[in-house]
Amino acid sequence: MTHYDITIIGAGPAGATLARKLQGIYKVLLVDKRPLDKEPSMLIKNCGGLIAPDAQKALATFGLSIPKSVLVSPQMFSVETIDFDNDIVKNYQRHYINVDREQYDRWLISLCDGSIDKMFSTRYRGSTKSTNGYIVKLLKDGKKIEISTDIIIGADGANSKVKRELIGLQPQEPKRYISTQEWFPNRTNLNQFVAMFDEEISDFYSWIIPKDDLIIFGSAIEEGRDAMKYHTLQKEKLKKYGYDLSSPVKREGCHLLRPISSKAVCLGEGNVALIGEAAGLISPTSAEGISYAMLSGDTLGSALIEDKDNFLDLYERNTKPLKVISIKKCSNIQLCITKS
Ligand SMILES: Cc1cc2nc3c(=O)[nH]c(=O)nc-3n(C[C@H](O)[C@H](O)[C@H](O)COP(=O)(O)OP(=O)(O)OC[C@H]3O[C@@H](n4cnc5c(N)ncnc54)[C@H](O)[C@@H]3O)c2cc1C
Repeated sequence: MTHYDITIIGAGPAGATLARKLQGIYKVLLVDKRPLDKEPSMLIKNCGGLIAPDAQKALATFGLSIPKSVLVSPQMFSVETIDFDNDIVKNYQRHYINVDREQYDRWLISLCDGSIDKMFSTRYRGSTKSTNGYIVKLLKDGKKIEISTDIIIGADGANSKVKRELIGLQPQEPKRYISTQEWFPNRTNLNQFVAMFDEEISDFYSWIIPKDDLIIFGSAIEEGRDAMKYHTLQKEKLKKYGYDLSSPVKREGCHLLRPISSKAVCLGEGNVALIGEAAGLISPTSAEGISYAMLSGDTLGSALIEDKDNFLDLYERNTKPLKVISIKKCSNIQLCITKS
């Protein structure tokens, strides 16, 4: 059985950033159920693909610039907000880098050198404790594989199996939302990010983002409510503002977390650590999560390099600013999305 120092489940921005940080230092396995070494399949990450100023800053601190092949048009520097409750439309300056999210993830993974073992199209099925660490069960192309590892990292997003299985529910959990996105032809050449606030629909928000010839309309509805009903109602209400959201070419949905207290962030236990959205690290006001994912991956990487035996204490200590930012950065959702 192959043994790894560290096994990372999930190769999104969190897992890929951690893997890159650890390359050449530890024997690392990076696992993802997506076919990230082949043509993209239906199994893609649902996301607006906006690299917000905090994520741009994180990339700058890593010395990285996004290649042209990852960008989509338009590059946006303005946000329109529609406040349905008060019937107010406003425009603000805020600079986003607009990317193809699947290509963005693939680019981050491409920065990991050959010293990182990668297993894609591979599903994490669970793990059992062994004398020195864990036996990890994986499923690749219908074939069961087992490896052993000292440390397991859950970088497996909002529905983290690593967290559910190895750590369990915490006294405080992030609030859960269902996020539905539909893609439409960009019939009006929309060239800005639109954010909608409407208490009838959600206590979070809905958005429209142009992506080349298409636009994405998405909404985040509290779990337990009829997500499709309110998503459709928001589309109806948008007609008044001139938006034609008919005949979608694609529809997708997934969970989205919203930590309303810093206690809802869980960074791990023993030899299991969580990064990115698996840890509950995401902005509770704008749902911007790419910066949190990359920064937590980088911070955990530094802790593992400094002291592999006490990495969790170091990680928890060094993640405090990120936790505080996550919760206190902005209490007003509209202000948070519009401030530059
Ligand atoms: C609709 C929507 C729009 C968003 N828009 C934006 C935006 O525009 N900008 C922004 O900054 N943030 C946005 N976010 C938030 C952002 O997408 C996440 O916070 C970010 O992707 C978290 O990164 P991560 O690496 O922690 O997890 P993820 O990106 O979710 O990656 C987790 C990885 O784990 C893999 N995985 C999961 N389970 C398993 C398993 N059992 N076995 C193997 N692999 C597994 C998945 O395939 C995936 O690759 C959005 C979120 C949603 C839902």
